[in-house]
Amino acid sequence: MSSAGALVHMAPQAGAGPIERPVIRERGQREVFCGLTGIIWLHRKIQDAFFLVVGSRTCAHLIQSAAGVMIFAEPRFATAILDERDLAGLADANDELDRVVTRLIERRPEIKLLFLVGSCPSEVIKLDLSRAAQRLSRQMAGQVRVLNYSGSGIETTFTQGEDACLAALVPEMPKAPAGAAPNLLVVGALADVVEDQMRRLFDELGIDQVAFLPPRRSSDLPAIGPNTRILLAQPFLTDTAAALEARGAQRLEAPFPLGAEGTAGWLRAAANAWGVDTQTFDQVVAPGIGRARSALTRAKVHLAGKSIFFFPDSQLEIPLARFLARELDMTLIEVGTPYLHRQHLSMELDLLPADVTLSEGQDVDRQLDRCRAAHPDIVVCGLGLANPLEAEGITTKWSIELLFTPIQGFDQAGDLAELFTRPLVRRARLAV
Ligand code: SF4
Repeated sequence: MSSAGALVHMAPQAGAGPIERPVIRERGQREVFCGLTGIIWLHRKIQDAFFLVVGSRTCAHLIQSAAGVMIFAEPRFATAILDERDLAGLADANDELDRVVTRLIERRPEIKLLFLVGSCPSEVIKLDLSRAAQRLSRQMAGQVRVLNYSGSGIETTFTQGEDACLAALVPEMPKAPAGAAPNLLVVGALADVVEDQMRRLFDELGIDQVAFLPPRRSSDLPAIGPNTRILLAQPFLTDTAAALEARGAQRLEAPFPLGAEGTAGWLRAAANAWGVDTQTFDQVVAPGIGRARSALTRAKVHLAGKSIFFFPDSQLEIPLARFLARELDMTLIEVGTPYLHRQHLSMELDLLPADVTLSEGQDVDRQLDRCRAAHPDIVVCGLGLANPLEAEGITTKWSIELLFTPIQGFDQAGDLAELFTRPLVRRARLAV
């Protein structure tokens, strides 16, 4: 594994067929954040969009505490609070919503795309936000586009908020003209710094028709058609990928761009589709692989041989587990994920060690019992489980940080590893 080529070619190629693995399936009590959380990273990404949660005070508290209260900035998210009168059906919530939106757009004319984000309360009172979005879009035609999606915590987990948001954008994407040149669409919110790095690498590979979803500005929604090839940057975009495929795009089979191996495999999927030769590919990726490896060597001192247990939360668990096992020699005890999309994760599953326990869904008490019995060195979980586990002396990593931190790509591999070394080093210091 000393050359770039060796590392890159380790990944099984598309079509090799998934390895069948036993999976523990649980449908009990779950401890996860809701899809509103995605607003925190999405509002930074789409710079002329505004996210208006139609929810309760609880929803407002959740997103304010997740975002940190912004006192000086004009935030691009807010909550239209459904009060008792709305919830009891005594007031017309649609009229109130129209008033709130009109006032908002008068005050913030720079907003070009408004998302009405549904919540548990808006779903419970059956407020039809899709009709509201159509009505408001008509009223404000030429000024602001209004879309809707649900971030409700009923039966969803927190990264599904991004999936629902991006899926809502797909019908708005223009149709690529017949016979258009092949184009690559990278799907999933990436930090701008990561997006710029990826664009440079695609450029060096000779792939120049590249667009990103979501775009930085809502007016830059890319065209889509049968010549579009999609490369998923995040593993939780089931509905978005299905909506893009329904418009004729074809998904490229790839691992996810975490770590040197994942990033190289991800780029290779695009390179193969564009017919880039092996020598050019290896030349382009070798410097990045080299930088990633040297950053990982430092982290390995703290992580090699340590055991890790994943509770299901972000849907990033399987690619992360692959990275930690293969590039940092960590031992995987159980890798839990809220949903296991075997097609999107087929290359990732093939790269996992044969003896790892996979679980899908959650029955939190039973999973906690398994976790305690295994005595892992570190646990990846949501905030709700982290404090009690820490109090029991178990080191934890909050899975939500993996969404707030740029972790994709060669140059972020060291930072990604650092997210796991930090809690272990801190615990070791406390123990001295
Ligand atoms: S959407 Fe539901 S789960 Fe999320 S904060 Fe609001 S009430 Fe809570």
